Amino acid sequence: MSLLEGKNIVVMGVANDRSIAWAIAQSLASQGAKLVFTYENERVEERVRKLVNTIPDAVMLPCNVTVDEDIEKLAGSLKEHFGALHGIVHSIAFARTEELEGLFVNTSRDGFALAHDISAYSLVAVAQKLYPLMTEGGSIMTMTYLGAERAMKNYNVMGVAKAALEASVRYLANDLGQFNIRVNAISAGPIRTLAAKGIKDFNSILKTVEEKAPLRRTTETAEVGDTAMFLMSNLSRGITGEVIYVDSGYHIVGV
Ligand code: NAD
Repeated sequence: MSLLEGKNIVVMGVANDRSIAWAIAQSLASQGAKLVFTYENERVEERVRKLVNTIPDAVMLPCNVTVDEDIEKLAGSLKEHFGALHGIVHSIAFARTEELEGLFVNTSRDGFALAHDISAYSLVAVAQKLYPLMTEGGSIMTMTYLGAERAMKNYNVMGVAKAALEASVRYLANDLGQFNIRVNAISAGPIRTLAAKGIKDFNSILKTVEEKAPLRRTTETAEVGDTAMFLMSNLSRGITGEVIYVDSGYHIVGV
């Protein structure tokens, strides 16, 4: 049985083969989904193209989520390509490296605004322009982290942006439920990716998870990919506004 046969899904946030979005795309493709990929800019275009070319019939389109016209163009291209859209995978975040170390109290005004624009508002902007294409119902998902609810060393402004993202998931879910569109987040354990490189002392975070998480191991991108596939599929039809943890159980453990 292919769980995503006939589903048209846009995957936003592949930068390289370590990207969580890439693992998600592979899980979605394995269940028969038709995929469109978006990429941030020319800097990542060639790398993304090599990956996308390995998935039959997949296409790629540019979309910098800080640019409204890019998102509007994306909506037009998806309408042309797919007609109806069934799924959106939002796996995008950014904060300046200097805001991901030291004290949160030193966060600058523009660093705060930039992190929130790319990491939280972009979900709202994308949902706003693309939900009208979800004429047969749909599923929207994004990626978050435990730093949204706990003050974690060096995660700083990104934690605050993730809190805004998780609240946005609930508000969007409440708005779009009437159109049979669900909105959820996956809270993944730490995974070594390009984005994670910006976080100071990332290795020690991985080590703590290995020691303390109930499953005594770190999270693999494929585990996130398969949960995303569940969220895109009809199997999760009763779930919306939720944050699902794929973190080897780390978030349940006391100090
Ligand atoms: P990644 O660097 O592979 O992915 C981040 C993506 O964001 C990249 O593809 C980048 O091009 C894109 N992006 C940044 N600014 C953009 C913009 N203006 N327009 C369009 N795209 C833009 O790293 P990742 O770890 O796969 O991150 C994906 C998501 O998962 C992020 O939301 C991240 O916060 C979240 N997450 C990561 C971890 C982890 O430990 N790696 C844990 C929990 C959640």
